[in-house]
Amino acid sequence: MAIERTISIIKPDAVGKNVIGKIYSRFEEKGLKIVAAKMKHLSRAEAEGFYAVHKERPFFKDLVDFMVSGPVMIQVLEGENAVAANREIMGATNPKDAAAGTIRADFSESIDENAVHGSDSAENAAIEIAYFFAATELCPRTR
Ligand code: UDP
Repeated sequence: MAIERTISIIKPDAVGKNVIGKIYSRFEEKGLKIVAAKMKHLSRAEAEGFYAVHKERPFFKDLVDFMVSGPVMIQVLEGENAVAANREIMGATNPKDAAAGTIRADFSESIDENAVHGSDSAENAAIEIAYFFAATELCPRTR
């Protein structure tokens, strides 16, 4: 199986609920390793740039407003098939459709405040990692 990296963002709603540690445990329990992390209060320009792919969508302004409403916790996860593994741990975009035991089912109530972001492909993961982290900020495990 391929060792991959992916971006995870704990969004302002979940940071506000004080469940960063509980969410980190979900990653660790499934064997994903945190190899970089930073807390950041995104500027509007940073949030708009990150979600640029959605800029023509009707929810774009609300999404940006939400993403700048408080700090986020951004981490790079590494592990076997990390992109798909993280998406499985997160659950469906709409928490009402998310499987029991997923982050979105357990820590969010609505599609517009759904606790976490995760890259949807290895290609986008590389772009998103570079958006938030310099190469020197990634810390591969040595033990
Ligand atoms: N979103 C929303 N309303 C929608 C669809 C998406 O507010 O009807 C938000 C939601 O926060 C979602 C983000 O836009 O997480 C990005 O949407 P995407 O389809 O990429 O879902 P994700 O990859 O986050 O599951």
